[in-house]
Amino acid sequence: MTIVTRFAPSPTGMLHIGGARTALFNALLAKRHKGTFLLRVEDTDKARSTEEAAQAILEGLGWLGLTPDEAPTFQSENAERHVECALEMIERGKAFKCYATPEELQARRDAGEAKRAEAKADGLSDDAKASLLAEANALLAPYRSPWRDGAAAPRTDAPFTVRLRAPDDGQITVNDGVQGEVSIQTREIDDLILLRADGTPTYMLAVVVDDHDMGVTHVLRGDDHFRNTYRQIPIYQAMEWELPEFAHVPLIHGQDGAKLSKRHGALSTLAYRDMGYLPEAMNAYLLRLGWSHGDQEIFSMDEATEVFDISGLNKAPARLDLEKLGDVNAHFMRAASHERLKALLLPEIAKLTDVTDALESRLDSALPTLKERGTTLLEMAEACRFLWDSNADNLNKKARKALSGDKLTILSDLREALDQSESLGIEAVEAIIDSYCAAHTLSMGQVGPPLRAALTGGLPAPDLAPVIAWLGRDEVLARIDRHLPA
Ligand code: GLU
Repeated sequence: MTIVTRFAPSPTGMLHIGGARTALFNALLAKRHKGTFLLRVEDTDKARSTEEAAQAILEGLGWLGLTPDEAPTFQSENAERHVECALEMIERGKAFKCYATPEELQARRDAGEAKRAEAKADGLSDDAKASLLAEANALLAPYRSPWRDGAAAPRTDAPFTVRLRAPDDGQITVNDGVQGEVSIQTREIDDLILLRADGTPTYMLAVVVDDHDMGVTHVLRGDDHFRNTYRQIPIYQAMEWELPEFAHVPLIHGQDGAKLSKRHGALSTLAYRDMGYLPEAMNAYLLRLGWSHGDQEIFSMDEATEVFDISGLNKAPARLDLEKLGDVNAHFMRAASHERLKALLLPEIAKLTDVTDALESRLDSALPTLKERGTTLLEMAEACRFLWDSNADNLNKKARKALSGDKLTILSDLREALDQSESLGIEAVEAIIDSYCAAHTLSMGQVGPPLRAALTGGLPAPDLAPVIAWLGRDEVLARIDRHLPA
């Protein structure tokens, strides 16, 4: 059997990270089995769906490299087919026209609520209370239409909805890849509306028809859809279609254990891009957020493709942990090739300063060391600041102290020594500083601070020798001269 999976977002907002994770799982499951990963945009709710949201979802998926194997489909384009299936279910005796009006349905609910309220009144006998509650429960129970057994229309031109005739009795069982086997009583299911009074198909019908028509073999989605499965299975059965495998993954929770919401931080996938996370880090992090394989923490997409399986999906909700995401991102920034990391970093640096050729060549020398710094591209760009900024106008107390009194003599001596050296490579600079310390019986703790303060003004930076080597002679001398008397 060729595996076909799908991601079926509703274009009513951004691609949030929960959706991205669902897409990732589906893409990996298909890849693992050399199957097909499809994307279906569920845009049937015209009032809430927007073209921009659909674009944002595609952009988010594109950023993560989760592009589907075929062009995306749009659910609204299949409406005719949905209607056709509903009519076929009528033919098969599995669905029927229901003439109950919205007003009648509302009146039924209101009557149920009224009975329930009546049952709470003081002074009722237990029997009276029980019988009122029984009436209330019958009125509030999942709706079984009086037309389900083929009663005639009230008038020939009466408007109708098309409803699925809910299974009469017994249980509906979902055999879920994550949740296991879970059943409910069929009486918990109403006669589900398939076509509204205006003839438009409902979401529940559209999902099943599309999944079937697209040949979807595995429906892997968030467990907010778990209960829908009980309503979707009878549609498959009515059409005599084979059921797909279902797997419902628990939603992502915040650090506090509550379901993820905006207050837990930025949730749009693209916001993470803008915060300076790498797509491969995002994938690796989202993968482990709800799935595990042994105790391996970090997977490349290739590694994940080798081993991803439904049995590794966790039953318990995972908690979003931004610190861990930072660690994973740091890992992938270190692992990225120089060219790629530089290409990702330069736009971030360009937000802080003009990127000159000189700066770019400093970055070429420094990046192999500086890529160890920071957990996002933004932090890494900040860690590079000393490459273009001597911070001379912004010295902190410690730097000011290091550039005062007789410490300036040390600075001036070192300037001369550096200026006279043919090479300012890392080793040459180390040798200059060491021999200066030895000749003046000074320690590195005495010699280093004025030089560091002049060069980087208290900004975080690695060892002095590499800093000098990366900045280059002209820049080093210019930075020192700013602090020496003319
Ligand atoms: N369109 C639904 C959503 O965005 C998903 C439906 C499904 O996966 O079956 O929540």
